[in-house]
Amino acid sequence: MHLYQSNEIKIYNSLTGQKEIFKPINAGHVGMYVCGPTVYSNVHLGNVRTFMSFDMVFRYLKHLGYKVRYVRNITDAGHLENDADVGEDKITKKARLEQIEPMEVVQRYTVDFHNILNTLNFLPPSIEPTATGHIIEQIELIRTIVENGFAYVVNGSVYFDVHKFNESHAYGKLSKRKLEDLIHNTRALDGQSDKKNPQDFALWKKAEPQHIMRWPSPWSDGFPGWHLECTAMSTKYLGEQFDIHGGGMDLKFPHHECEIAQNEAAKGKSPVNYWMHANMLELNGQRMSKTTGNTVNPHELLSGENAFFSKAFAPGVIRFFSAQSSYRSILDLTDAGLLASEKGFNKLMEGMRLLQSVGTANTSSFDVSSWQQRCYDAMNDDFNTPILIATLFEAVKYLNQIKEGSASITAKDLQVLKTTMHAFVYDVLGLEATSEASTNANNDKLASAVNILIELRQDARINKDFALSDKIRDELAEAGIQLKDSKDGTTFSLS
Ligand code: AMP
Ligand code: ZN
Repeated sequence: MHLYQSNEIKIYNSLTGQKEIFKPINAGHVGMYVCGPTVYSNVHLGNVRTFMSFDMVFRYLKHLGYKVRYVRNITDAGHLENDADVGEDKITKKARLEQIEPMEVVQRYTVDFHNILNTLNFLPPSIEPTATGHIIEQIELIRTIVENGFAYVVNGSVYFDVHKFNESHAYGKLSKRKLEDLIHNTRALDGQSDKKNPQDFALWKKAEPQHIMRWPSPWSDGFPGWHLECTAMSTKYLGEQFDIHGGGMDLKFPHHECEIAQNEAAKGKSPVNYWMHANMLELNGQRMSKTTGNTVNPHELLSGENAFFSKAFAPGVIRFFSAQSSYRSILDLTDAGLLASEKGFNKLMEGMRLLQSVGTANTSSFDVSSWQQRCYDAMNDDFNTPILIATLFEAVKYLNQIKEGSASITAKDLQVLKTTMHAFVYDVLGLEATSEASTNANNDKLASAVNILIELRQDARINKDFALSDKIRDELAEAGIQLKDSKDGTTFSLS
């Protein structure tokens, strides 16, 4: 019996605009594709938030016992500036500015991406394919789309014929746009484009002489379009139809819309059963974006070296902050928000420690099994991490009551509480006690121990046992702990 058999997940499907019961194509297996980063600069926290949302989805599906194949690509070619069909490739541009090879740019930022994700305790995806590693698959896909009559070749470039496609299919069904509206809203071609219509998009671009990243193809020496790579890689590893496709909200149109069109044009099938879109991260009320420069990168947040925040924040705090809002809500990154999350995170970690130390009794004063069910219910409801966290805090509150003696728990219930807390806190949310949090906890313990000694010294003085009271003071001083007496009592400091 797997947990997924007793847990029905509902996913908000952007395609239908509704929460739907999740039924994978192959029972017990899930295929999930998430658009990865374009590795031309350091990832910013907005990118990280989107990937983190899907990391938690991946973790929960695995926790339920599904065999998940999670594919997250690396875009290392074909993504032009402004997501357009003309202009410079983002990676080539960076290579030109820094006077290095495009593949050096790719390597540098792929390594940076992995480092950040490791620091933030992400699970690696099952497959992380690159666009440049799948040029042959992309060429094959273009060939099929051309053969099926949905693309045309002009001057060595190949364009997807959106108008032709829309005669027999519905272009715009994901983003709920109508082709007529798109026609009204796009400017006329400036005459430099080879496209028949402004809505058409490039599947293959002939490379200008100065364009370094180029591959031979039946049409020209050139490079594939950005939208195409995801279709080629998702179908290669997950099949022509698969379960979940994710990405940031900003990719819904045109990127994901084009993915659907390419798939339908090539294979006659709608590729994805559940489209999931993560909402945007803002920084002090404005969308975080590389283009506007309103960004903070994770290194800066972790080190505290940035212009926005009062201090450094630990990886666990950043994950906790992210999980405190639903992946579908806009999340605003602020100093106050992070400070509050730090408090919450430390409180939760303290709860995890209490799990190890509280004693048991003959009765429980809390319904542990219904609480456990509510943890699952939260995640089953479209991966509702904020509700999950609120539910976890009910357990923390209970543990504190047990510690204070105002509540009790049986050994059996404590076992369930432990397993469930571990599963959700460590495995599903991916939180782990950071060194900072454990240092804080150790400091608390040290303070309790020293305060006990201060009390014993006080008792010794009352009993006029000055030998003992001096011994306590002197030996603590030798251990680097100074006691300071004042009229309000005794305090201590560490030297
Ligand atoms: P890119 O490297 O620009 O292709 O983006 C990688 C991923 O980050 C995509 O899924 C984007 O949708 C996502 N993304 C970009 N900006 C933000 C943001 N401010 N908040 C959340 N996700 C974002
Ligand atoms: Zn993509």
